[in-house]
Amino acid sequence: MHEQWLPISDIPVQGREFYFEDDREWAGLCFELGEDYSPLAGMTAVLTVFPQKQGVYFKGFITGLIESPCFRCLEAGQVYVDHHFDVFEDFEEYRQESLAAGILKFENGSWSVNILQVIREQLVLALPNKILCSPDCLGLCPACGENMNLDMCRCETDAGDPRLQILRNLKIKTN
Ligand SMILES: [Zn+2]
Ligand SMILES: [Zn+2]
Repeated sequence: MHEQWLPISDIPVQGREFYFEDDREWAGLCFELGEDYSPLAGMTAVLTVFPQKQGVYFKGFITGLIESPCFRCLEAGQVYVDHHFDVFEDFEEYRQESLAAGILKFENGSWSVNILQVIREQLVLALPNKILCSPDCLGLCPACGENMNLDMCRCETDAGDPRLQILRNLKIKTN
């Protein structure tokens, strides 16, 4: 996984801004999420890092378009991300849980910050669980797999409800 560790002592208390505008870097970040997310050109994030006594304060935003197969019909769906964030990471929590990987790490007497991890975590929060091509996507027909947004399939008219088909085939014994 991509990492970018910076010593916190290099960042002034007034804060420093970091820009994430590289299309390939975004493609890599989205790929790491393990879904079929692909960012369209022009994804941007701005992150300001403020070192504090007890931890580090992060403020910024992510904007841009991300494409993914629709959860219901598998056609391309898009989501517009416009996510603003404000988070504080406490040194104490990292000391106690001795987190090996994460946003902060303590090594040889000084703290470092993985700014890519901040962006990665915020990207996860920014994305909906299910990306749809449209909020009223009809999805695929469970019987024939036809995309019901394009055309109503024939399952309904030809065969009726497949759950009822079983009843029609039953022979009723009269004697
Ligand atoms: Zn759809
Ligand atoms: Zn069908």
